[in-house]
Amino acid sequence: MNKNFKKNNSFPPKNMSWTVILGLVVLGLLALVKLNEMTYTIDDLSYSSFLRKVEKNEVKKVNVSGKDVQGTLADGSRFETVMPASEFDWDLLRNHGVEVALSSESGLFGMWSLVGSFAVLLLLLFFMLFFRQGSRGSGGNGGAGNLFAISRSKAKMFMPSAIKVTFKDVAGVSEAKEELQDVIDYLKSPDKYRRLGAKMTKGVLLVGGPGTGKTLLARAVAGEANCPFFSISGSDFIEVFVGVGAARVRDLFSQARKHAPCIVFIDEIDAVGRHRGSGTGGGNDEREQTLNQLLTEMDGFDTSNEPIIVIAATNRPDVLDRALLRPGRFDRRVDVPLPDLVSREQILQVHAKNVKIADDIDFKKIARGTPGFTGADLENLINEAAIAASKKNSELVSIDDFEEARDKILLGKELKTISLTEEDRKMTAYHEAGHALVQLMLPEDTDPLHKVSIIPRGRSLGVTHSMPEREKYTMTKREAEGVITVAMGGRVAETLVFDEVATGAANDFEKATDIARSMVVRYGMSGALGTVHYSQQPGEFVYSQKTAELIDTEVRNIIDGCYQRAKQIITDNRDKLETLAAALLEKETLQSGEIYELLDIKPRQEFKLT
Ligand code: ADP
Ligand code: MG
Ligand code: ZN
Repeated sequence: MNKNFKKNNSFPPKNMSWTVILGLVVLGLLALVKLNEMTYTIDDLSYSSFLRKVEKNEVKKVNVSGKDVQGTLADGSRFETVMPASEFDWDLLRNHGVEVALSSESGLFGMWSLVGSFAVLLLLLFFMLFFRQGSRGSGGNGGAGNLFAISRSKAKMFMPSAIKVTFKDVAGVSEAKEELQDVIDYLKSPDKYRRLGAKMTKGVLLVGGPGTGKTLLARAVAGEANCPFFSISGSDFIEVFVGVGAARVRDLFSQARKHAPCIVFIDEIDAVGRHRGSGTGGGNDEREQTLNQLLTEMDGFDTSNEPIIVIAATNRPDVLDRALLRPGRFDRRVDVPLPDLVSREQILQVHAKNVKIADDIDFKKIARGTPGFTGADLENLINEAAIAASKKNSELVSIDDFEEARDKILLGKELKTISLTEEDRKMTAYHEAGHALVQLMLPEDTDPLHKVSIIPRGRSLGVTHSMPEREKYTMTKREAEGVITVAMGGRVAETLVFDEVATGAANDFEKATDIARSMVVRYGMSGALGTVHYSQQPGEFVYSQKTAELIDTEVRNIIDGCYQRAKQIITDNRDKLETLAAALLEKETLQSGEIYELLDIKPRQEFKLT
């Protein structure tokens, strides 16, 4: 599908670069000049015969520029002559009724004037258009200077010597670093892979919120691999002209091919990579064409001969066109999560190197007070603290400065969830531990556990992630019940431990009820109602009041059953719950591997999303 382009009638035609078009225009102009010359013959007259003709009133008009004289005779034929230096008898011409025009330029100008003005007009048009696009681009290389560079990729290229970042500078995100390790290895020695016919992935998608270090990580990969790095932002591809984005993609990849092994980094790929068919208008066509070109380019190179790794970053993986994620394209996803406690401490240490810090500063403590901060936030925190210290003319940045800076950033971010009390953290830890434990203890009915976190994210306090073992199209009754039971685990743990409940479980109940309802009215998984499809769409199917009550009872029964099951599991494994919760409070995020180790459980086979 990536190869058929919806728009073939766009201007410029897709395979034609602007340079070629400009070339054609010039050729056209030259042809015009030739034509101009051929339409009349010009007689070369000597100056004396010219004067004779004037005296015979045979000259109608002349155009004088410098020493060159061009003119028309009374019979309409044209002539040309050169006059001797500074000798021109203006009175003679006037007396014989010759029309005189003067040009300051050389005689050629006359011939060119028509063509020239046409060309000037065209150039003006080009300049105007280019200026329009240039002024939108990143400063410096825009504007009229960009005349012949419109289809250039706009990518910045960094040679290895210019890349100063390595993995040392990226603190935390150990999982992501690990996953990128073989990409680095491949870029360093592609022959090793080629020999065995191993095909490396072409595209890596870095997924994470703003400021989590995606750009930093991509650069560090280039730094580690010691290879050139092409960097461009998704929005740089998009211009007012249809076709420019696609041309830029083409240009980017042709440059990358010349410098392989190398990395092409496309930041904010969602700007071009939104799924096609969303939105309307010309700008959209342009984006789709650009996306199509990107897909074509990615399909077009062969990693074994051209070791190019395309790394893209996004914080909106959900809006990406599915075609981008297919095998052979961005088929490897690397998550760049919010830093956990230990990572935050490490990030603080990395950035504190550039600042004079008081001896008594405990980065662990600061890290503890900054859950939900990204790497960029932490960098900002140090900077703000240094500013606060400078204002006071202090020698060193003190803990008070950090407090001040933190409050300022928190206010700015309005991240209210961040100011969790210790009590909140504890409750969240048990809640998430409850989910995780139930999930672990229901091996056949649920997806394998992926990770558990109590790092606040948006409005939710914690998350327990699972990973589907395979793409799911259907869910068995047992699986549906498994999901509901896991959802109950959070509330159950809270109740058992604290003897009170928090609002954190509202989401869980919503999800559980949804599934239970679907089981009853859509999938016929309820004994009492049988295998009848009770549509919920108003007007489509109306069921009786009695049926409605029956549905509600059934939903309730399912949920109650699952709740009891979760309670049983957690009561039986109370020690494990405590261990998990304590570990979560300490580390904030636990990967499945750590959990298996901690609880001494045999790991389930985990399918990696590759
Ligand atoms: P993103 O591209 O995900 O929005 P960036 O890579 O631009 O984030 O990060 C912005 C800045 O924050 C980086 O330049 C770096 O100084 C700092 N930063 C982010 N994550 C980390 C990290 N893990 N270690 C050290 N610094 C980080
Ligand atoms: Mg970035
Ligand atoms: Zn929950």
